[in-house]
Amino acid sequence: MTLDFAGQTAVVTGATRGIGRAIADLLLGAGCRVIGTGSAPGSDLGGESHVDRYRFEGVDFLDAAATDSFVRSLAGEPVDILVNNAGINRISLVGDMAPSDWDDIQAVNVRTPMLLTRALAPSMAERGYGRIVNISSIFGVVTRSQRAAYTTSKYALNGFTKTTAIDYGGRNVLCNAVAPGFIDTELTRRILSAEQRDELAAATPAGRMGTPDEIARVVAFLASDANTFINGQVIIADGGFTSI
Ligand code: NAP
Repeated sequence: MTLDFAGQTAVVTGATRGIGRAIADLLLGAGCRVIGTGSAPGSDLGGESHVDRYRFEGVDFLDAAATDSFVRSLAGEPVDILVNNAGINRISLVGDMAPSDWDDIQAVNVRTPMLLTRALAPSMAERGYGRIVNISSIFGVVTRSQRAAYTTSKYALNGFTKTTAIDYGGRNVLCNAVAPGFIDTELTRRILSAEQRDELAAATPAGRMGTPDEIARVVAFLASDANTFINGQVIIADGGFTSI
């Protein structure tokens, strides 16, 4: 199946690297116009070959005023696709958790997707078309020690996904989540040592970590008009990790 996004506009948060960059690249390659974000003006995607269809916005989602201003700037944009991908993780035992880390994780991983969805879903519904894909995690389905703040954020994002799907599904705005397993990105390399990454790869039935492209392809299907009936679901793409 070839997906065609010509004439559509997508907002992809966290598009500078990792999973978000793979999603933005795939959508751009399939003809989409993409508004991609990163945490600072300098952290651009590049997108040289699609410069006419790519716009970069540097906005720190830990800065409430900057986030509000970015969300307001989207008013009037004919956004067909919203991919809430930007996410952060800081690990600690519950007893050692800094409340500020908790707040930061919820702000980037849950509050920002809420603000963007709140701003964009109603206009998608008015136009009778929209696709929202939230990048969750297997830690929105299972968990692991030291992941309380992150796990809470991803369970919350899954709940938000389901309610959004119900609120707007009747007007052809479909909202789903993709829950990646262990994907080889900077986030994973920051959190896990090489030895821990090898252990998790070995514990995955696929025998390896996933790649950003493998997640991007799932997201692209859910974000496309080929998806007409999947709504409110959390699609796990984890090489079988959570099936053990
Ligand atoms: P990554 O390589 O660390 O990239 C994170 C992206 O989010 C970057 O574009 C980054 O922008 C942006 N970002 C981070 N903090 C931000 C902030 N304060 N304000 C605005 N943007 C910010 O992450 P990834 O591994 O690709 O993860 C992407 C998503 O997948 C996340 O939601 C993550 O929870 C989820 N996920 C990842 C894995 C995995 O194994 N990697 C597994 C399950 C779920 P800058 O470059 O400007 O910092």
